[in-house]
Amino acid sequence: MRAYVPSYELVSPANLNEALDLLAQNDGGWKPFAGGTDLMVLLEAGKLPYRQYVNIWNLKELRGIEVNDAKVRLGALTTYTEVQADPIVRAEFPMLCRAARETGGIAIQNRGTLGGNIVNASPAADSPPALLAYDAELELISKSGARTIPYSKFHRGYKQMDLRADELLSAIYLPRVPANRLQYYRKVGTRKAQAISKVCFASVAEVHHNEITQVRIALGSVAPIPIRCEKTEAMLASQTLNDETIELATSTLAAEIAPIDDIRSTRDYRVRVSLNLLRDFLARAGVFTSH
Ligand SMILES: Cc1cc2nc3c(=O)[nH]c(=O)nc-3n(C[C@H](O)[C@H](O)[C@H](O)COP(=O)(O)OP(=O)(O)OC[C@H]3O[C@@H](n4cnc5c(N)ncnc54)[C@H](O)[C@@H]3O)c2cc1C
Repeated sequence: MRAYVPSYELVSPANLNEALDLLAQNDGGWKPFAGGTDLMVLLEAGKLPYRQYVNIWNLKELRGIEVNDAKVRLGALTTYTEVQADPIVRAEFPMLCRAARETGGIAIQNRGTLGGNIVNASPAADSPPALLAYDAELELISKSGARTIPYSKFHRGYKQMDLRADELLSAIYLPRVPANRLQYYRKVGTRKAQAISKVCFASVAEVHHNEITQVRIALGSVAPIPIRCEKTEAMLASQTLNDETIELATSTLAAEIAPIDDIRSTRDYRVRVSLNLLRDFLARAGVFTSH
């Protein structure tokens, strides 16, 4: 049942400082409200947990995509539509573009933000596996200053994050990807559009003469948080790709993931799909060369 709207408070600060002032008050009573695509669902269901919200949508400090020689900085309020429209992101980060294209429908893509997707912290979200495979960093800001952490250290448990109540996620940094990397992203859901993932797989690899020299593999919906599969990555590093390596990699991945049965899928299906996607990725790596 829809919540009683007048019992909620939404304040629109004029700038980032005012927003951070509010977040620092009231012992974490104020919560950020970005595109609202996750929060409005909770409101409609009568399950919106907090009463006081800071509308950050208009904070220009959290917007925009900037590029330097080493990194791309995406403001936390970057929408899925903006991700897909940016020429550098399209060229170097096709997995993120694909995640954006496969997130919800057009209305959600116009309003939903990368920052909201990260902090909502659903293990089934679509951009986190791509961001993990790109080795993203997060910039977190509060009245006491900014700090930067690897995204791989951000999620600590189901809906548990390295984010204080007085902090905002301000930006996502992506190290630029050389053109010679193999990038592989697959979202497996019930339908081609408007479906939450059953499994989401993202990987980036450097391959020379049938040998994987560097690889990052990340999955969604196979654990309480989106995960980097570091054991599988370590097992594959500097290995020649042959049937034996691929089988060893799949058994390593099988031991590394721990999906559950839930409303969207079963544990067994998720394991099987994850291993098939790893095999498909490695088969492509076998015929790919990073010149
Ligand atoms: C119909 C529908 C379809 C959807 N389909 C998909 C899908 O296919 N794949 C998918 O991954 N998601 C999907 N979503 C979920 C949602 O659209 C995304 O998670 C979206 O990116 C959330 O962004 P937002 O800006 O709307 O977040 P909001 O709803 O504004 O906020 C979400 C959470 O993040 C916090 N937050 C937001 N921004 C910040 C910030 N900068 N700093 C700190 N905290 C912050 C808020 O306090 C809140 O807890 C769907 C949602 C709907 C309603």
